[in-house]
Amino acid sequence: MKSVGIYIHIPFCRSKCAYCAFDSFFANTDTQKEYVDFLVKEIESFWYADDITADTVYFGGGTPSFLYQGGVTTIINALKKRFEFLPREVSIECNPESVTKPKLEEYRLAGINRISIGLQSTSDTLLKSAGRIHTLQDFFKSVQYCEEAGFQNLSCDIMLGLPNQNINDVTDTLNILFKLPIIKHISMYGLKPEKNTPWQDIVIDEDLAADMYDTAYNLLIKNGFLRYEISNFCKQEYECVHNIKYWKRQDYIGFGLGAHSLIDNVRYANADNLNDYYSNKKERLELTKQQAKEEHIMLALRMAEGLNIIDYNNKFEDNFLIEYSKPIKKLSELGVIELTNSVLKIKPQYMGVMNSIIVEFFS
Ligand code: SF4
Repeated sequence: MKSVGIYIHIPFCRSKCAYCAFDSFFANTDTQKEYVDFLVKEIESFWYADDITADTVYFGGGTPSFLYQGGVTTIINALKKRFEFLPREVSIECNPESVTKPKLEEYRLAGINRISIGLQSTSDTLLKSAGRIHTLQDFFKSVQYCEEAGFQNLSCDIMLGLPNQNINDVTDTLNILFKLPIIKHISMYGLKPEKNTPWQDIVIDEDLAADMYDTAYNLLIKNGFLRYEISNFCKQEYECVHNIKYWKRQDYIGFGLGAHSLIDNVRYANADNLNDYYSNKKERLELTKQQAKEEHIMLALRMAEGLNIIDYNNKFEDNFLIEYSKPIKKLSELGVIELTNSVLKIKPQYMGVMNSIIVEFFS
């Protein structure tokens, strides 16, 4: 029996944020229903012959909470029919403006046990300039609805490096979140100007963004959050089990527009426009051993637990310490990595320059 994470992509949003390059768009209820009908067929006809256990489920977007009432239950029922459904964690991304009490009650009944809220900032001015259509009050209301519906595990996304954002904005946001015990997880992402978005030409002050990250990191640690991945912090035992599967290159199956899967070391990508998706177009990409190794190293070093060398050697039937002796020697001499008990880690104080360290393994 294969145990996998399942990702469900809901591409709909009520409006478009200034920085967003995701394939997300507005759709009325009829279009949403047509999409869910197709997605259910995609689940029902999933090609893999062996038995599969759905170990985690993640509804991402877009804005899954913008989906019509009942849509999430329809999808979960399809998963229950196609797979052995024994998830440890079922998450859904919600935005404060579209999550309602009846929807949260639906999610709870359907088996969802983790809500991830796209907050980004508690400054209404910054939210407005980023094209977000919710306010801080909307966020408080959505947290209250979550509590009333019986949820106990909430995550919040926040952003660093927004235009006109200063360090106080970041600390204010975190201090508000620390007062809400239901928030067990915080993801922190730096703004990246993406092509073909209204913010494509903005210039990020990288030094300021790095200072924001360092300040936020210290505040999070002081308030009992652990960093388990470069962008992800949580209270003890509240790691996102589903996302850890991505970082550990475990099998996952994605359903929906543009969704990706990794099955037996082969990556699949659904088409990212609706017409092609409805024609079942997919890409199949078999990774070379070297590509898989590099992906494994990059993802493992992003995590606080680091790269387990025995695991690597077993997986790739190779010897990591011999294969990468040069970068290991160089980075050890620079004092930026540590190697203990067959685990290689980037030292916590150098996680901020992680990319320049990881690149040494590929040069
Ligand atoms: S809510 Fe998320 S997916 Fe939708 S437009 Fe904004 S950033 Fe993009």
